[in-house]
Amino acid sequence: MNTFEKDKTYITHTYNRYPVCFVKGEGSHLYDDKGKEYIDMGTGIGVDVLGISYEPWIEAVTKQLHTLNHVSNLFYTMPQTDLAQALCEKTGMKDVFFSNSGAEANECAIKGARKYSIDKYGKDRTTIVTLINSFHGRTITTLAATGQDVFHQNFFPLTEGFLYTPANDLDAFIKLCEAHPEICAVMVEPIQGEGGVHPLDKDFFEGVGAYAKEHDILLVVDEVQTGNGRTGKLYGYMNYDVTPDIISTAKGLGGGLPIGATLFGEKTKDVLSSGTHGSTFGGNPIVCAGALAILDHIDDKLLDSVAEKGKFIKESFEGAKGVKSVAGMGLMWGIEPEKDVSTIVPKLLEKGVVVLTAKEKIRLLPALNIPEEDLEKAVSIMKEVLAED
Ligand SMILES: *Cc1c(COP(=O)(O)O)cnc(C)c1O
Repeated sequence: MNTFEKDKTYITHTYNRYPVCFVKGEGSHLYDDKGKEYIDMGTGIGVDVLGISYEPWIEAVTKQLHTLNHVSNLFYTMPQTDLAQALCEKTGMKDVFFSNSGAEANECAIKGARKYSIDKYGKDRTTIVTLINSFHGRTITTLAATGQDVFHQNFFPLTEGFLYTPANDLDAFIKLCEAHPEICAVMVEPIQGEGGVHPLDKDFFEGVGAYAKEHDILLVVDEVQTGNGRTGKLYGYMNYDVTPDIISTAKGLGGGLPIGATLFGEKTKDVLSSGTHGSTFGGNPIVCAGALAILDHIDDKLLDSVAEKGKFIKESFEGAKGVKSVAGMGLMWGIEPEKDVSTIVPKLLEKGVVVLTAKEKIRLLPALNIPEEDLEKAVSIMKEVLAED
């Protein structure tokens, strides 16, 4: 059996895979089993933030691999505490819980938000508001948090205690909160990623932040996709004048190894007390050593170049032939083709460009350090394909 046949036989059929088997990568280039080269505009869904096999990350991971690969969270390890310190210093948050994925980082955020409110107000104030069209993960609770019915069907009963409100409608959010005194938190993505790359309006996000602060409703920001330099700031919320009480992040932070992190602010630090949460692998020394190398490299100079490259993407596609709309920030873009997106992706693969989709759009999440010539080449191939009759 070849890999495609083996996959069909032995892998649970939850993914609609494209017929490509990658065997190697370097920076923003991927290579398939036939030796064909591709420009990577998807980075494994925003994971390989500094490209495939980023050298300082490999060095940090390899060094740690040869020193201490794992001990339990019953003991201290240096990479974990160093990474937590770096995250707090760069965000102003106060403490960090480490897990292994975005969904887990959100589960921890939800537990923390509820416990904060239960500790302070008792057990009848535990509802969390999320946005319609949001995406927060695939576990039963993060599915409940995800404001999209398509993900809910077949898995009832979901975790109780979630209400949904439309993005960018501040009045609706305030009305919902006034009608439901049991609301304890609101959770948002600065840019809805899986939902089709929709950045939140400044007035909405800042209005939600201000209202939440005034009513001691916690602001939980899901930075799983928008975090770690993706939007041209270290975290997506930094493009807005808001102060999160809890931040969850994952994807890019690990640079290619699984990690989740939940950051707690002034109000919520120490809420998850001894014995209230835990993880076997969370904060694993190898993963944390790699993440530290990634964070070290996401400096102001890199972030400025992310914003610049984002401007180039926006200007290249706006008004281009075959393009209906362009939305995004930094190096996170949704390009809506006039044609069905499912016909465009195989053509791009054929021409050696790997992209993602989100709803009806092509989604671009290239490496933050993608060389200009690769970006320009990928954009020109995309424009060519989009313009085809
Ligand atoms: C991908 C994603 C998640 C889920 O992350 P996993 O690591 O797949 O569990 C949660 N929230 C957002 C915004 C995401 O983009």
